[in-house]
Amino acid sequence: MMLRDQPWLRASNTRAVIAVLEAAGGSGCARFVGGCVRNALMGRPIQDVDIATVLLPEETERALKAGGLKSVPTGIAHGTVTAVAEGVPFEITTLRRDVTTDGRNATVAFTDDWSEDAARRDFRLNALYADGDGRVFDPTGAGIADAEAGRIVFVGDPATRIREDYLRILRFFRFFAWYGRTEIDQDGLAACGDLAPGMTRLSAERVSSELLKLLGAPDPTPALRAMAEAGVLSQVLPDAKLTDVFEHLVSLSDDPALRLLALLPTEEAGLRRVSASLRLSNAMRDRLLAAAQATAAVRLSMSERDARVILYGLGERAVQDAVRLAWAQSPNDEGPARRLLALAGQWVRPKLPVGGKDLAELGVAPGPEAGRLLKAFEAEWIAQDFPTAGHAERLAAIAAAAT
Ligand code: ATP
Ligand code: MG
Repeated sequence: MMLRDQPWLRASNTRAVIAVLEAAGGSGCARFVGGCVRNALMGRPIQDVDIATVLLPEETERALKAGGLKSVPTGIAHGTVTAVAEGVPFEITTLRRDVTTDGRNATVAFTDDWSEDAARRDFRLNALYADGDGRVFDPTGAGIADAEAGRIVFVGDPATRIREDYLRILRFFRFFAWYGRTEIDQDGLAACGDLAPGMTRLSAERVSSELLKLLGAPDPTPALRAMAEAGVLSQVLPDAKLTDVFEHLVSLSDDPALRLLALLPTEEAGLRRVSASLRLSNAMRDRLLAAAQATAAVRLSMSERDARVILYGLGERAVQDAVRLAWAQSPNDEGPARRLLALAGQWVRPKLPVGGKDLAELGVAPGPEAGRLLKAFEAEWIAQDFPTAGHAERLAAIAAAAT
């Protein structure tokens, strides 16, 4: 089996990295591995090109240096060196086998045996290699067929492989969501369900990263349904509910954060709890909270004038998130939903047209009172739909009424 018509395989930066490694270790000492080979066989776009090699990390570094390529020691202890060619990074990892595992980390030893390296990978379609000419190697003997069929099957006994690293439970569903084209593998599914409670030992960062990748799949619903039935979803997201609303939302947005929100109750305390337990970034947490707030205020039938008030308070993205959630709840309301999305997209936040200088001219010195007057002005200005004239008069009236 040969990979054909792969621009990344012919690209000069890829050729340069392979040439430099082969100059040091001989022809065939380095092979492409994992996602790039899998996706090439499946006709899917390639994210990044990873390379496996029999060269030891120091030998890889020396080879890169001798060939004039930049090398970055990204994870020397685990065997990974990153080569940079024409500005593009290539992760080059020495073949490894596991010595000990504890359910989340492995101690590894280097090896020159391609089958040993394949045996520690998670799924058969992820344990595929290709040499510099594009010749594919399939040490498990089933990876090519799995990739062609769209089948996610563990390398070896699923329960054993999960006990080595419980993250593989989520990876099973993530790869099923992205690449599954057959029914989900029943042995793998059963082992995931049985061992789901063991996921508590995983770091929140690894869990949320896999979960968000899963949610970003074109249609994550079948994978999530399988997770729910197996008792895996409740382990990672105890509050999650897989509803029609989620399914509709998936067709309206491919954004993993918004999809996550569609699984959860839009209620502040709960969202804070989920954000903390998954250690989501502050930016993502704030986005979820703002969208939940906007959801409480947005109605698809609302006037544009009322919508501008919410836009001013919560911003364009929160309103768009809330509109999409409301649209998912009421799929027939495409017209009103699109009208609000367009309004939010075109909206430019008006600047408060008065400030401390204007108050000073009215004889109000800076301080708490000035702050209160500006707030009062702003509230009236918002309520009047952001008029663009007559500010001085209104501010004067507010200041006069306050004294
Ligand atoms: P993507 O295109 O989504 O990046 P990928 O296959 O490159 O897909 P990665 O998570 O980047 O996925 O992992 C790269 C490769 O490393 C996998 O294809 C797999 O062979 C191996 N791998 C990664 N994580 C694990 C793990 N937890 N257990 C076993 N093998 C793993
Ligand atoms: Mg990858």
